[in-house]
Amino acid sequence: MSSTLDGKVVLITGASSGIGEATALALSAEGARIAAGARRADRLEALVHKAPGAALALDLDVTDQESVRAAVAKTVEHFGALDILVNNAGLMLAGPIAGADLTEWTRMVGTNLLGSMYMIHAALPHLLESKGAVVQVSSTSGRIASAGNGAYAATKFGITAFAEALRQEVTAQGVRVVLVEPGFVATELTDHITDPAMRAAARDMAAAMRTLRPEDIAGAVVYAVTQPEHVAVNEILIRPTDQT
Ligand code: NDP
Repeated sequence: MSSTLDGKVVLITGASSGIGEATALALSAEGARIAAGARRADRLEALVHKAPGAALALDLDVTDQESVRAAVAKTVEHFGALDILVNNAGLMLAGPIAGADLTEWTRMVGTNLLGSMYMIHAALPHLLESKGAVVQVSSTSGRIASAGNGAYAATKFGITAFAEALRQEVTAQGVRVVLVEPGFVATELTDHITDPAMRAAARDMAAAMRTLRPEDIAGAVVYAVTQPEHVAVNEILIRPTDQT
């Protein structure tokens, strides 16, 4: 079966687990050639072996501008083009603002916001050439901030602002920008929370609902990037039915 993604080159950040891994596999199943970036090399190697199509593992730390530039260059060198960037790498170190560990804020801003901006900066010349697409994995926290996730929400609101400015700058040149905003997805994301109360709250929340699965988000990404060229799916908000 032919697909609009046949032979397209997709670079996915944060592909070593959760949403990124599921999205890489789903895009690969649709015929895309995937460049999968993250820091855990063993997980990426396993993904490359599991992917049904051509796949490349990229040693990538999105907080490091040199690493970002090298990952984009390696992708283009290996596959000859770059059609789609899925900016997915992120972390959520939830906790109250008062007394917060500022290194956690720095890590979140550096990874979720600046990291995705660096990726766009490095990838954009290639995406303009291919009339490609950028998929920004934001969050419901990019629409509604709540107590205990101020810094995380700030990064996701920032992603939305940057994506909209980017959209206005490049849409006339045929580059599409997609914002995907998941609610609660069962992944490793909450394992990194250091605040015991927030971690317990996340665990309780997961236990109290039918959470989304990473594959649900992967399906939304596949939908967005397989539309005809004149159709720009700019925003997808996707929550578990049980999430208020
Ligand atoms: P995971 O923890 O499973 O995945 C996070 C990914 O980001 C990992 O692959 C990790 O890889 C990567 N990553 C973290 N830091 C860096 C870095 N400095 N450089 C490169 N890669 C990095 O969680 P999810 O799959 O849930 O998260 C993916 C995205 O989805 C995040 O942006 C998150 O904010 C967003 N999201 C998640 C929701 C959820 O409920 N799970 C809800 C809404 C949005 P490695 O450690 O190997 O580098």
